Amino acid sequence: MKIVLLGPPGAGKGTQAEMLVKKLFLPHISTGDMFRAAIAAGTDLAMEAKSYMDKGQLVPDALTIGIIRDRIAQPDCREGFLLDGFPRTLAQAEALDQMLADMDTELDAVLNISVPLDNLVTRLTGRRMCRQCGNIYHMTYNPPKDENTCDSCNGELYQRSDDKEETVKNRLTVYENQTAPLIEYYTNTGKLKTVDGDQAIGKVLVDLGAALGQNWA
Ligand code: ADP
Ligand code: AMP
Repeated sequence: MKIVLLGPPGAGKGTQAEMLVKKLFLPHISTGDMFRAAIAAGTDLAMEAKSYMDKGQLVPDALTIGIIRDRIAQPDCREGFLLDGFPRTLAQAEALDQMLADMDTELDAVLNISVPLDNLVTRLTGRRMCRQCGNIYHMTYNPPKDENTCDSCNGELYQRSDDKEETVKNRLTVYENQTAPLIEYYTNTGKLKTVDGDQAIGKVLVDLGAALGQNWA
């Protein structure tokens, strides 16, 4: 299955993606995670991406489309993949359609996680990530047992630099202007399924499963 997870920053894409890929046996492809890994490794790609990420802006399409083109050509993507955080612009969505058409295939579903904008600032400013395994927590909604330590690998938890309030507000504006139009784009393809993301994490997963025809209740 080839799936896109759509939704504003903080909707719960990363949280749900981790669980979905375990159930569906798909590679999890997150452009944000790929950029953060490149930054940690200090590559040239990273330096360019970082300047945009720090301001809450999108990394330019050419760069982002290029990394996805390389990634989905890998052998582990032959049976499908779950895209998280890509596409984020109409140009990216069109490029993805073209890449898949060139491979004689197409997307199976676009899962749109919908959360009221008012909740997103609290979700993003309270988010903590594990430096080691990438697990996602929230200090109130999904707290770790120890505030500085990952429950699953004992790695150090940190706050993403773009999760500070000023940057978060920019990211939400960027979402409204550049990414929200994808809802209409994918509605027109008949592939969009919207799930209420303003529910308990486990219930959102059940609803995402139902949107894919799975019974995980
Ligand atoms: P995204 O990848 O869409 O930016 P995340 O999965 O990182 O979003 O989630 C953003 C924050 O919201 C995290 O701190 C996460 O723990 C929290 N979160 C995710 N899903 C829910 C939910 N259903 N209810 C409350 N908080 C949630
Ligand atoms: P995320 O981890 O999905 O919240 O993404 C973090 C940041 O990485 C975003 O604010 C952008 O700066 C950049 N980014 C991630 N995915 C994309 C994308 N598809 N297009 C452009 N920039 C992206």
